[in-house]
Amino acid sequence: MTTLRPAQITQVIPDSIGAEIGFEPGDAIVSINGTKPRDLIDYQFLCADEILELEVLDANGQTHHLEIEKDYDDDLGLEFETALFDGLIQCNNRCPFCFIDQQPPGKRDTLYLKDDDYRLSFLYGSYLTLTNLTEREWQRIETLRLSPLYVSVHATEPEIRAQLLKNPRAGLILDQLRWFQERRLQIHAQVVVCPGINDGEHLERTLLDLAQFHVGEIPTVASIAVVPVGLTRFRPNLDELAPVSTEKAQEVIAQVRSLQAKFRAHYGSTVAWLADEWFLIARQELPPAEHYEDYPQIGNGVGSIRQFMSEFAAMAAEMLPDRLDSPCHYTWVVGNAVEHAFEPLVERLNQVDNLTVTLAPLRSDYWGQEITVTGLLTGQDLLTHLQGRDLGDGVLLPSLMLKQGDAVFLDDRRLEDVAQGLGVPLIRVTGIAGLLQQCCVGQS
Ligand code: SF4
Repeated sequence: MTTLRPAQITQVIPDSIGAEIGFEPGDAIVSINGTKPRDLIDYQFLCADEILELEVLDANGQTHHLEIEKDYDDDLGLEFETALFDGLIQCNNRCPFCFIDQQPPGKRDTLYLKDDDYRLSFLYGSYLTLTNLTEREWQRIETLRLSPLYVSVHATEPEIRAQLLKNPRAGLILDQLRWFQERRLQIHAQVVVCPGINDGEHLERTLLDLAQFHVGEIPTVASIAVVPVGLTRFRPNLDELAPVSTEKAQEVIAQVRSLQAKFRAHYGSTVAWLADEWFLIARQELPPAEHYEDYPQIGNGVGSIRQFMSEFAAMAAEMLPDRLDSPCHYTWVVGNAVEHAFEPLVERLNQVDNLTVTLAPLRSDYWGQEITVTGLLTGQDLLTHLQGRDLGDGVLLPSLMLKQGDAVFLDDRRLEDVAQGLGVPLIRVTGIAGLLQQCCVGQS
């Protein structure tokens, strides 16, 4: 871990307490009531007091002391450069399926940082392995009741988990789950299935072991996501892992469905859910919306397509007109993983008179994937597959294909360069509302 730095402010929300006091981006909070916050968790905890004595460093390096009186639940309205003022807790595993190692070489250093930090898990739902926690961090999880955390379990048999994470400490997972249970703290679990390593009887064992923690008023294991391993052509040892084939996906779906039926009968909940990708790879229908209960693993691609389809149907009924005033033709780019699932959505769009939407489901040659999710398509993939095609008045481009807050694809190609290469505008659309609004543009 690096040394503790003052919490650097990047944004001050207008009309907030922070704005009223005169905070500016570039200022940094050194301490609150005499304590230096380690991270956003400390910051939020310390800011719950009604009287705050702040030590602040301005952009010129000058120290200021302020006193603020507020209600305990008032937020100061400040945003920070990072959630971790003392640096990232890095990963000490060497999983062969790690996506960080499956990126092309030569990119900026930050893209190769492997985090395994319980704070990010608590704040943002990222998965961690629990293999690198010191006694001090375990105590902090207990004292601050940082729950739920999101834990990559992969396998409960110690030797299988240690083999997958390439870390002997990985074998302690069941003891660690008991630790959470004794303290009435919760986790959401994920199991990334690697054919030939943790599938078959090992997957059965893992799901049965985890489900045993789904008991009581506050079940220790609140939910489990079963996810297929994702591989790219940049992975270091090409032979170490096998991709999930259609047959393997069908086998895992059948195996998990049978366990789900037992769990529903015994625990009153499905407990373990299959990520959408299994159904796309197996070329099978996605389960209905009610299967996902309250979508506990939506951030992990479990039920997100079904939810998208349900929301699309409701919003299309509200937003789409019967006709556009003049003809409009768009090409909607998506990963080929959702080709089949999105066909009814395109049919619905094309019911609008004068509107023509053509779905362009693409695979990524850049990552070397036969089946690709939309968020992984790159600028090069668009150029390879769309050049020379009639793309109409423009390409509807889901904004999740671009790096956050930037007009750059994952392969560092710029949006405007790709648009120029294709000879049509690339129209960024965010979410369903953005897509439908763009489709209504031709209406007066
Ligand atoms: S724990 Fe996560 S970050 Fe670390 S090697 Fe495994 S997959 Fe990569």
